[in-house]
Amino acid sequence: MSKVRHVLGISGGKDSAALAIYVKTKYPSIDLEFYSCDTGKELDETYQLIRNIEVHLGIKIQLLKGNEDNTLNPFDYFLDSYNGFLPSSNARWCTKKLKLDPFEKYVGADPVISYVGIRGDEEREGYISTKKNIQSIFPFRKNIWSQDVVTKLLSNQNIEQLLAMSKNIDFGKNQEKTFQTIARKVDASFTLDQKLNILLDTNVKSFNHLVFDFLKTTDYPLATETTFPLLENDEVLVRDDIFKILEESGVGIPAYYNKIEFEINGKKGEYARSRSGCFFCFFQQKIEWVWLYEQHPELYKKAMEYEKDGYTWGQSESLEELIQPKRMTAIKEEYIKRLEKKSKAKSSYLIDILDDAEVEGCAACFI
Ligand code: SF4
Repeated sequence: MSKVRHVLGISGGKDSAALAIYVKTKYPSIDLEFYSCDTGKELDETYQLIRNIEVHLGIKIQLLKGNEDNTLNPFDYFLDSYNGFLPSSNARWCTKKLKLDPFEKYVGADPVISYVGIRGDEEREGYISTKKNIQSIFPFRKNIWSQDVVTKLLSNQNIEQLLAMSKNIDFGKNQEKTFQTIARKVDASFTLDQKLNILLDTNVKSFNHLVFDFLKTTDYPLATETTFPLLENDEVLVRDDIFKILEESGVGIPAYYNKIEFEINGKKGEYARSRSGCFFCFFQQKIEWVWLYEQHPELYKKAMEYEKDGYTWGQSESLEELIQPKRMTAIKEEYIKRLEKKSKAKSSYLIDILDDAEVEGCAACFI
């Protein structure tokens, strides 16, 4: 088997940028490769972020293009091959052609550990390749392992094997509790998640060693590694930690996250863009389109030019309709209402409110 490669994708968003800094600095013994899938339609701030990371870490981030054989803009090239059919959340050819395919081609058949920047305060799982030679690891979470690994590990048929393995691992004062938890079958009254959480709570590092030993009996890429520094990782990083890493490193936070004040009918609000990705991404919320129109009118105009032959970025209205004065006022007012409701409910972070759609959004683009 060829040597395991350790790869980390920079999407242009804050979390993957912080992950690059975190893993490279905290685990310098890992021979990391960095890549970014270039759609050709990112905001300037995203390209700037990539350059900042390169300078700060002294690394080269390989830009991958879905159409590497020619010089055309990647997005425009594929749009042409789809006869102008704009991508949408139901027909996301862009993610496949511009993100997933180039990544899988870059990896080839090599065994690969792919580091993914899903935070400890997020529910989503991120992009999990179905290719067997790619194993995802989530360093920001308490549970660094992917769902497929956990499902396999805690399957009832492996109970005896895990019990035997766990005898060689020190779970400290929780040894007995660990044995009992492993011995208990997953069923309707004891879910896989419950079992996982109890084991993580006994001792994260010891649990990681148990998973690592178990993986040796599988054909996952980590099976061939003699050590893995992330086994000693028991930190959980949440949104505040991400901003801190970016600020303290000097890499900085992409400028599109900066809140900008606006006023509508005597009421004040703040808007920003919540994530990276193509400037015309159909996952953005109405208020983000308004932000694009008011803060980057030239990009909004370019996004409008793509809307022809009946194709529009949004399902309910065209970009031309969205910027009619009455419509923009309504969008801003509705957004301020949501802000008020949300800030009463829990978070004062604008980004939390804008981030609602991140959960359904494109994990390959927005991490
Ligand atoms: S950012 Fe949006 S438009 Fe661009 S590739 Fe990702 S999902 Fe598609």
